[in-house]
Amino acid sequence: MTAPQPALSVVVPMFNEEAVLPLLAVRLRGVLDGLGEAYEVVAVDDGSTDATPAALAALRVGWPELRVLRLRRNSGHQAALHAGLLRARGAYVVSIDADLQDPPEVIVELLRRARADHLDVVYAVRADRSRDTRFKRWSAAGYYRLVRRVVGEQVPAQAGDFRLLSRAAVEALRELPERSPVLRLVVPWLGFPSAEVTYERQERAAGRTKYPLSRMAGLAAESVTSFSAAPLRVATWLGLVGVAVCGVLVVVAVLAWFAGGTVSGWPSLYVAILFLGAVQLLCLGLLGEYVARIYTAVQGRPAYLVAADSAAARPDPAELA
Ligand code: UDP
Ligand code: MG
Repeated sequence: MTAPQPALSVVVPMFNEEAVLPLLAVRLRGVLDGLGEAYEVVAVDDGSTDATPAALAALRVGWPELRVLRLRRNSGHQAALHAGLLRARGAYVVSIDADLQDPPEVIVELLRRARADHLDVVYAVRADRSRDTRFKRWSAAGYYRLVRRVVGEQVPAQAGDFRLLSRAAVEALRELPERSPVLRLVVPWLGFPSAEVTYERQERAAGRTKYPLSRMAGLAAESVTSFSAAPLRVATWLGLVGVAVCGVLVVVAVLAWFAGGTVSGWPSLYVAILFLGAVQLLCLGLLGEYVARIYTAVQGRPAYLVAADSAAARPDPAELA
């Protein structure tokens, strides 16, 4: 038996969100039931270790539109989102955070906009980040400036992973061989007709952030290296400058030698050796970044493993408990 295609899928990645889950269910269900159309909610449980799986199983009892995709282990927000997007069945697919920082009410506007203007992508863009800490605002501004330079101006600034995709856009995403793409960059890169809808980013409704500084830095590094060889080019330019400087130093050393001041030539040699050493180390480091990417790609280890899908025949062990 295959269920008819719902008009809308809402993908919600979540990791240890037991505290927000009851609030989320009420808000999301209110909005989606109000649409008057067939929908599904794909809750991607990213290997939660708290009561999230049990809470989801309980919610499913009275909410047939809720579908639970449980990942075998914690695989990260991007991987969880990717897993949910590729398994969503809706004609339109919205991705949203579980913590109610993205108000579910905005989904209605995203859908309306996509249909009215025949768009494949509608980004929800944060109108105001005054609720975020100064550091978060500052780092986000730097991040968007960087990625817009690297990927292109089509990347909307201040757009996170709250967005709507059409079926066609999701299918295009499926064609990409990348194991875990940085979705907020890959989606604009696909080049579908898109628009932005602004919204007010809320406080996290309950629980704590799952995005520490180390993960944010990791996302930034991945964003750049997955889209650009510019850092490698920086190494090349530095190398060229280094060679030019060394050329000058060699001439200086030779002239000093002719003038009879051989001993005084040692500082320039010293500088040249140090400089070349530094340049080589830098180049090696940058090469290493890319070699690491090749390594993980060649390795082919999946970014996530699906433990259970409530739409499949195999029962979820969490539900049997
Ligand atoms: N999340 C996830 N896996 C992780 C970390 C986070 O699925 O390993 C989910 C989390 O439950 C939330 C969303 O990703 O629904 C965004 O995370 P969070 O709100 O903690 O990040 P922030 O808003 O603070 O940047
Ligand atoms: Mg959040």
